[in-house]
Amino acid sequence: MTTISPDYQVIVVGTGFSGLGMGIALKKAGINAFAILEKANDVGGTWRDNHYPGCACDVQSHLYSFSFEPNPNWTRMYAPQPEIKKYLQHCARKYALTSHIQFGQEVKKAIYDEKNKLWRLETAAGKTITARMVVSGMGGLSTPAYPNVKGIENFQGEKFHSQDWQHDYPLEGKRVAVIGTGASAIQFVPQIVPRVAHLDLYQRTPPWIMPKPDRAITSAERTLFKYAPKTQEAIRNAIYLQLESRVLGFVINPRVMKIAELQARRYLRKSIPDPVLRKKVTPDYSFGCKRVLISNDYLPSLAQANVDVVTNGIKEVRAHSIIADDGQEREVDAIIFGTGFKAQDPIPRGAVFGKGGVDLIDTWQQGAQAYLGSAVNGFPNFFMLMGPNTGLGHSSMVYMIESQIAYVMDCLKQMQKNKWKAVDVKADSQQSFNTDLQDKLGGSIWSSGCKSWYVNADGKNTTLWPGFTFDFRRKTANFDAKNYQVEH
Ligand code: NAP
Repeated sequence: MTTISPDYQVIVVGTGFSGLGMGIALKKAGINAFAILEKANDVGGTWRDNHYPGCACDVQSHLYSFSFEPNPNWTRMYAPQPEIKKYLQHCARKYALTSHIQFGQEVKKAIYDEKNKLWRLETAAGKTITARMVVSGMGGLSTPAYPNVKGIENFQGEKFHSQDWQHDYPLEGKRVAVIGTGASAIQFVPQIVPRVAHLDLYQRTPPWIMPKPDRAITSAERTLFKYAPKTQEAIRNAIYLQLESRVLGFVINPRVMKIAELQARRYLRKSIPDPVLRKKVTPDYSFGCKRVLISNDYLPSLAQANVDVVTNGIKEVRAHSIIADDGQEREVDAIIFGTGFKAQDPIPRGAVFGKGGVDLIDTWQQGAQAYLGSAVNGFPNFFMLMGPNTGLGHSSMVYMIESQIAYVMDCLKQMQKNKWKAVDVKADSQQSFNTDLQDKLGGSIWSSGCKSWYVNADGKNTTLWPGFTFDFRRKTANFDAKNYQVEH
């Protein structure tokens, strides 16, 4: 039987932390037969796409960066988006990835060719590329979610999503409605309150907010990090341990969260003296059930005279106004959607086809799931970085990404050594991994009764890792071939 050889050993999709990290690992291992496909014209993933005012990371940058590429130049404990984007551009350059990246190539379809044991990728630009292995670094939060509001298409003013910020639109003096009070909104709302004439903030569920222990990093500290990198490493390790201790409250004993909830209530009282407004923005669900947000300026901004927090829900949007459920009509010039992303559909239908032409989405009828958040039975040599149940509510995703990259690299090493052409995770290994995972999630704070993007419509948590990140690292340290069907 004649078989064809693929164009590349590996195709990586995306150039965020996942895609670049994977590319760097391949380079370091001396593997050069790879390409990175990127839909846009620059690297950076979510840190390229999100550029709304105030966009910053809510994990300290000493930890939210590659372990092998510390950045002594962070200017704040929580770096703003432009610095993170610059850091990723620096990584692409430093590790000579640019020649591997094909920009403007959005992957539309990936089809597994069983006979030749390779993947055939089709891009929106009309290109077809083949590879033995595909590593998806597409991220879970990239497709904006818009609210299904009656009449929104009739609105005559400006409207945009937080990920699609229209910087050219002058907000100065405008009446603006913001829909949503999640992680993105709490960052941009305080930035725009001083600029707009009036802001109506449509809040469906108030988030729990904690103060952000942010500060500028002094130039003396930056010099120290540059010339004595061990000092930055020590800070990184301390941050890691501190964040990891939060697993106790999220998963092991959610009652611990009561202590943090008291702190958050105290912070609320201090930030919002008006009891009526305070009541409106006080959550009625357990602290930690939805993502805990950190901000020093969000709550104070709600207390400004030009801000109304509207909790009645939206009944209808008209050409120049929004009508709330209580019938009150408020005129607006612009609507900004801070309504998040389609986290439950990380990969669309019709995009990834495995053995027997099966659509990946058809294997996910009870919600997305994978083995170690990476591999899915029936989809040989297809690995996802930041796949199902690898998300975190407590620490840095870059740590999880590096764990998964090490796993895929070990797989490649073993494939080369043993001359395997394909590895396909066994269905029972995937099943028992997920049964155990869901058992753990059942007792976590995320299952304490709130609605969040962590869980799907059936209440199944398909997004978060229920445990310590070092446990995930241990599980992904070596490619465990015994859980895979291998083909020569
Ligand atoms: P989000 O946290 O999912 O928040 C979406 C907001 O929109 C929520 O307040 C939600 O209310 C509201 N909403 C959604 N649909 C609505 C509707 N039809 N009507 C009224 N309100 C509606 O989205 P996000 O703020 O974009 O953040 C998403 C994730 O991105 C975060 O959880 C985080 O993982 C990541 N992120 C990270 C950072 C960072 O600093 N690292 C910054 C931004 C974002 P409900 O709560 O009632 O659903």
